[in-house]
Amino acid sequence: MSIQNLIRPTIKALKPYSSARDEFQGNSDDMVFLDANENPFENGVNRYPDPLQRTVKSLLSELKEIPQSKMLLGNGSDEVLDLIFRAFCEPYQDNIITLPPTYGMYSVLANINAIGIKSVPLDENFEPKVDAILQQVDGHSKLLFLCSPNNPTGNSFGTQAMKTLVENFNGIVVIDEAYIDFSNAESWVSQLEKYPNLIVTQTLSKAYGMAGIRLGICYASEEIISVLNRIKPPYNVNELTQQKAISQLEQNERTQQQVSDILKERDVLVDQLNSITYVSKIYPSDANFVLAKVDDATKRYNQLIEHGIVIRNRTTQPGCENCLRFTVGTPEENKILIDTLKSI
Ligand SMILES: *Cc1c(COP(=O)(O)O)cnc(C)c1O
Repeated sequence: MSIQNLIRPTIKALKPYSSARDEFQGNSDDMVFLDANENPFENGVNRYPDPLQRTVKSLLSELKEIPQSKMLLGNGSDEVLDLIFRAFCEPYQDNIITLPPTYGMYSVLANINAIGIKSVPLDENFEPKVDAILQQVDGHSKLLFLCSPNNPTGNSFGTQAMKTLVENFNGIVVIDEAYIDFSNAESWVSQLEKYPNLIVTQTLSKAYGMAGIRLGICYASEEIISVLNRIKPPYNVNELTQQKAISQLEQNERTQQQVSDILKERDVLVDQLNSITYVSKIYPSDANFVLAKVDDATKRYNQLIEHGIVIRNRTTQPGCENCLRFTVGTPEENKILIDTLKSI
């Protein structure tokens, strides 16, 4: 498969904006920078940020064992996903394939970009229906989204199903690994060499505890990364975000400890949910949230709101009738949740 043939002609022909920091990258503190019309008086953020976020990438590169050249950072995964749409999907012409129930942004971004959506619902175990998916593909199917672990169901997809899809889909397969740090499943980042049509996205918003700074990560071949770099806004990740990401990534043991605490607490939560009389099913989770079926999701959701607890009502999602999604909180928060669920 040729990646070049998948790129929109407009994007292939694009002459990217060249920022001051693209044309000269100084790494010496004693240089005099009079090139970017900045205010020269130092306040910590008076200079434009590194457009390629090299320090953040070097830390991620060590952590994830992948070269910086195969990485692109965005203002949240949402920006990364939007860049992928704009690189590969021609408005009013191309389509994407999504597997509901799943993360809502894929179809929202498709709608914003005037891209068709082919939905192939997951099966009763929330696994992809591989044959049905491949049957839906047409000459304009550019992106296939596999969210694993999947939001809102919480499960990771079977490796063989994913492999078959990556190997047989004639477009770009985007594997959204927002929750991979909670999972025992191996990241697909290690498979990038093998599959040139693979894009893996991750985020600092979940396990890494930095939803507020908006930092999403895209891993792909150098060929794909260079296309995305051409179309991204030049300074898309701001200086404060880069600084905070650097300081947090340098304390990675703390993040790993938090992840293991959250996973222990998830087990406690599942145990306790089992004792709630109107909870009829708890779906296996490979993430930091639990999907559970109750007698009347909307009623229970509203009751929790009245008690000051906000969860996610997923009852309108295909295959999720009367399902609620609970994010794992601190032990104290989870206790409040369970006590409240018992009392209502
Ligand atoms: C939370 C989440 C993201 C993260 O989005 P950010 O924009 O990076 O905060 C991405 N994908 C899925 C499936 C998610 O649930």
